[in-house]
Amino acid sequence: MAIINENYLKLKAGYLFPEISKRVKKYSEENPSKKIIRLGIGDVTLPLPSSIVKALKDASDEMSSSGGFKGYGPEQGYSFLLEAILENDFKARNVNFSTDEIFVSDGSKCDTGNIQEIFSLDSKIAVTDPVYPVYVDTNVMAGRTGNSGIDGRYENLIYLPCSKENGFEPDLPQERVDLIYLCYPNNPTGTTITKEKLKVWIDYAHKNKSIILYDAAYEAFIQDKNLPHSIFEVDGAKEVAMEFRSFSKTAGFTGTRCAFVVIPKELMGYTGTGEKISINQLWSRRHTTKFNGVSYPIQKAAAACYSIEGKKEVAANIEYYMSNASKIKTSLESFGYEVFGGENAPYIWLKTPKNLSSWEFFDKLLSEVQVVGTPGSGFGPSGEGYFRLSAFGSKENVIEAIEKIKNLKL
Ligand SMILES: *Cc1c(COP(=O)(O)O)cnc(C)c1O
Repeated sequence: MAIINENYLKLKAGYLFPEISKRVKKYSEENPSKKIIRLGIGDVTLPLPSSIVKALKDASDEMSSSGGFKGYGPEQGYSFLLEAILENDFKARNVNFSTDEIFVSDGSKCDTGNIQEIFSLDSKIAVTDPVYPVYVDTNVMAGRTGNSGIDGRYENLIYLPCSKENGFEPDLPQERVDLIYLCYPNNPTGTTITKEKLKVWIDYAHKNKSIILYDAAYEAFIQDKNLPHSIFEVDGAKEVAMEFRSFSKTAGFTGTRCAFVVIPKELMGYTGTGEKISINQLWSRRHTTKFNGVSYPIQKAAAACYSIEGKKEVAANIEYYMSNASKIKTSLESFGYEVFGGENAPYIWLKTPKNLSSWEFFDKLLSEVQVVGTPGSGFGPSGEGYFRLSAFGSKENVIEAIEKIKNLKL
């Protein structure tokens, strides 16, 4: 008899996006003449920059010659990409790493989901609430949690609430935790963290021998020069943190797939008897065993993001999205909404008016002005009463959506 991993049965059904689709479908079937504008998506929409596509094509052509053909590549990534990452993402910010501290992968979703494998099942895990669901669900699958309660929280998982009351800055956990997932700029709230606040987490991690799993998927959207793009810009981080980066949102690679994780050699975990073990070595063993590397043409395309032309094109796309974000934010504020994020991230997080629940506001927005967003409660219990709008749409749609929201009767 094939007994399954019953932890999977603890997972709440993938409820959020299917439920949104269901409600939108029902509405459009009942109102076929109404145009619906979607500001709910967490996916980029602009095409890949042309210099990046050229690199992708050139590398594919190379594969057709006997001299340029590549078979299995190094699992950690080709050195041309590792060097470009070190130089542009880190050295340029006075952070130094060697190439064997970077692991190229096919996504931060996979990396943030897989990383838990190298830690004990007894590890105490802390997540912010609201949260990117991957961090939670992968720990549920592994068996680090109990069941989910009626409040939507899993037993044995430490939730760190983020709301307007604490300025979306989570308090340190009351109890000792081993692993802490932090994501800044944040999805879904669009809020950020300062170097000083990160230092508080780094000090906590030093004191408790914890590890911070830092997701910086949206660092390229930071506009404020004082905000850190990397946790490693803060002193003491190398001993207690690893960082996830992705080309997905930065350069429009959501369908192209390339990301990386930075694991400093200083970062240590412990055996049950207290012996120090290099996390870099453990992850290297895991990565080279279970992953075959990102394809050569895709790594060439990723490296092209760091060329002079590539940087220009990538920056132009980000500027486009951030101009959408700014329009949404300032317009909603002028209509009287309480709005967060949107300044250093492509997400706008708004407080629902009149204390409507997240889903009540979703229905109102859909039925009265045909704009689709994402209910905050879908990202965790503390997201209740909030709503996410994404800046990843076309400028025309954003302008039209704003005009419509203006007419929404509250
Ligand atoms: C989009 C996103 C990522 C990137 O995931 P990929 O697998 O690299 O596409 C990582 N973290 C968060 C919070 C995200 O929203």
